[in-house]
Amino acid sequence: MAEIKFVEAKTLKAKPDVSKIGFGTHFTDYMFVMDYDAAQGWHDARIVPHEKILLDPANATLHYGQAIFEGLKAYRQGNKAVVFRAKDHLQRLNRSAKILDIPELPFDVIHAGLLKLVDVDKDWIPTEKGQSLYIRPFVFATDEVLGVSVSKKYKFMIIMSPVAAYYAHGFAPVKILVEDKYVRAVRGGLGAAKTPANYAASLHAGLVAHDIGFDQVLWLDGVERRYIEEVGSMNILFKINGEIVSPSPQIQTSILDGITRRTVNQIAKAWGMPVVERRISIDEVIAAHEDGRLEEVFGSGTAAVISPVGVLRYKDHDYVIGDGKIGAFAQKMYDYIEGLHVGEVEDTFGFIEVVGEY
Ligand SMILES: *Cc1c(COP(=O)(O)O)cnc(C)c1O
Repeated sequence: MAEIKFVEAKTLKAKPDVSKIGFGTHFTDYMFVMDYDAAQGWHDARIVPHEKILLDPANATLHYGQAIFEGLKAYRQGNKAVVFRAKDHLQRLNRSAKILDIPELPFDVIHAGLLKLVDVDKDWIPTEKGQSLYIRPFVFATDEVLGVSVSKKYKFMIIMSPVAAYYAHGFAPVKILVEDKYVRAVRGGLGAAKTPANYAASLHAGLVAHDIGFDQVLWLDGVERRYIEEVGSMNILFKINGEIVSPSPQIQTSILDGITRRTVNQIAKAWGMPVVERRISIDEVIAAHEDGRLEEVFGSGTAAVISPVGVLRYKDHDYVIGDGKIGAFAQKMYDYIEGLHVGEVEDTFGFIEVVGEY
């Protein structure tokens, strides 16, 4: 395997008070970098001090947006530094690469690079429960030409940021607006890739929802505006009559195949619960709510892990879920996954990878 070069920082930064810094505002001492061109392929894997990069104003990503990313987390388990489902995240990065015509990344190199980077910066992993070190691998085009084409050069980087528990005011239900005007992604588009374009497509609707007091929007399919897709930075799951139901990214190809959703479903199955992945329409959700079968609604994603939904608004009608309180299943699942992260729950799934020891 290719050697990973290491350039030592002259000075190390002071660590911030993580409880006060929000999400993704402070960065660790180091970053991982690797470059691609047609002659050398992916080359020059290196860990260097986190610093600004110089881009030509003609940088292709700035104009045409050919870029992909991932988001995963590292935790402390006693004297060990660990990462959660890192291999799954890096495999998904390569699936996103394929969709955006970005050359496949050498899995062993990016995996080894990620583990080494976390080990080098392991003192940045926060110690309080709920806090973590957020890891952001990403790839972007580096051609310097204004002609529209697939780039011939790319940069892969991993940067990291210590983050507090997602909920500043504790684990609490969110209000979600079911979006029937704007769409995030459509069949045949980029929805299955973790790419900035999907976020650009979602920002305006998010802003409009915020202005009327909603935390996020729930996207419906872009063709019929009928089938539930996802929340845009989270997947969505329903507990209907004891069954855990979520839209299937295999059937609805404009949904991002979230790893937290997979984690929830794997754990729920291990608990002996019925787990179903299928198409589910907003009408079915509302009908289930009206006859009392809709027990819980919650989002799943790396940033917040589990996000219970207290209110769904659809066509000017507010549907209050479970009296607006956190559902018992969502709470139990959140506690269990948090337990896996910090080693209080034994990992029988193989989600945890040890990176280094203190
Ligand atoms: C990252 C992301 C998710 C959540 O995925 P996880 O792997 O669970 O973090 C859901 N939807 C979109 C659009 C995303 O970008």
